[in-house]
Amino acid sequence: MIVELNPNYSCDSLNPSQAKTILLCPLKFVFNKLLINYHPFLDNPSAILGSVIHEVIDTYYKNKNHSINFEEVWNKALQIQKIKYFKNPLNINNDPLEYWIPYYVIKKRMTELFVGGISHFHKNKTYHDVSFRTEQSLNYDFLTGRIDFLLKVGNNFVVRDFKSGSIYQYKKGKEPSLKPEYIEQLKTYGLLVKLNYNVPASSIKLSLVSIDGKESNTLLFGEAEYTAHYLLLRSKFDLVKQCSSLEQFQSLGEPQELICSLCKYRPVCTKYKNNLEGFYFINNTDHYIPYFTLKAGKDFFEINSSTGIIISNIPIAYYEPFTIFSSEKKSIFVYNLKRTKDTSTFYWTKYSNYFKEQIKWI
Ligand code: SF4
Repeated sequence: MIVELNPNYSCDSLNPSQAKTILLCPLKFVFNKLLINYHPFLDNPSAILGSVIHEVIDTYYKNKNHSINFEEVWNKALQIQKIKYFKNPLNINNDPLEYWIPYYVIKKRMTELFVGGISHFHKNKTYHDVSFRTEQSLNYDFLTGRIDFLLKVGNNFVVRDFKSGSIYQYKKGKEPSLKPEYIEQLKTYGLLVKLNYNVPASSIKLSLVSIDGKESNTLLFGEAEYTAHYLLLRSKFDLVKQCSSLEQFQSLGEPQELICSLCKYRPVCTKYKNNLEGFYFINNTDHYIPYFTLKAGKDFFEINSSTGIIISNIPIAYYEPFTIFSSEKKSIFVYNLKRTKDTSTFYWTKYSNYFKEQIKWI
């Protein structure tokens, strides 16, 4: 696999939606900017819907003339997102997307109702000491952000961030709670308001609004929390700025079970692969296999790895490259397998793939 590096890579700013990523893994933050045309996995079609809904709502917030046609605005936003989505060749089978995106029709209708209710918000409209801003850009030092909805009442601020998917995480036996990445994002918006308007922390109220119009509880952070948040972001950002080569970047990642299992950069993350190589499985749906033998069936085949792992249900279409790797004793990295009760046997899934050890970075 050839991994292309962005020739225009630069790291000049950080926006609120990147806060959680840089705090947990600065390497993932770098890879998001550094790697281009990198498609190791299928993309989730639901993410497209989120971008389309955001784009449509932005258009309505920005446009003071609310007679614009919803279908036209929706289709234009969808076309733009489709072009991005189908740049990943693994996604081709999902065409046409409208049939595959979960809740497509429902969310489209909800968006239509939602935008129908925002005609009364005009950009920069002021009543006495109350003012609304939508899509308000705020910058401070290395931080830059655009706030979906900012309400200023005297010296008090209300920040609302709009989300097209669920804003809660659900854990067995626990009350639903706001997703941690959204909390970090809101805190960073609050920090931007605080730094730009020089107001006390107690005057900044933050919340999330979902597509069904429901608003989360209001979040308030203290002075010390904002200070600590700024210093933490600053320290991670400075760390990233100090690195300039691929080798230096790779040292930024510290594998952990939770963050790595959701990361698409696992195949190219050196420390993650080293952990697999040492048989310390931080995510046992991925395996590093030094060499292996094959057992072919009619439509599927299985591999028996030198590490004692059996991987079955591999579609026969992969047989030829695997035969070559096996005869040459080439090591491979296989990922997104399905676990079974037997800890040494795994199944290939539609999200599985392999990565040859020899990665060419260009
Ligand atoms: S695999 Fe883990 S350590 Fe590597 S970039 Fe992703 S999150 Fe960071």
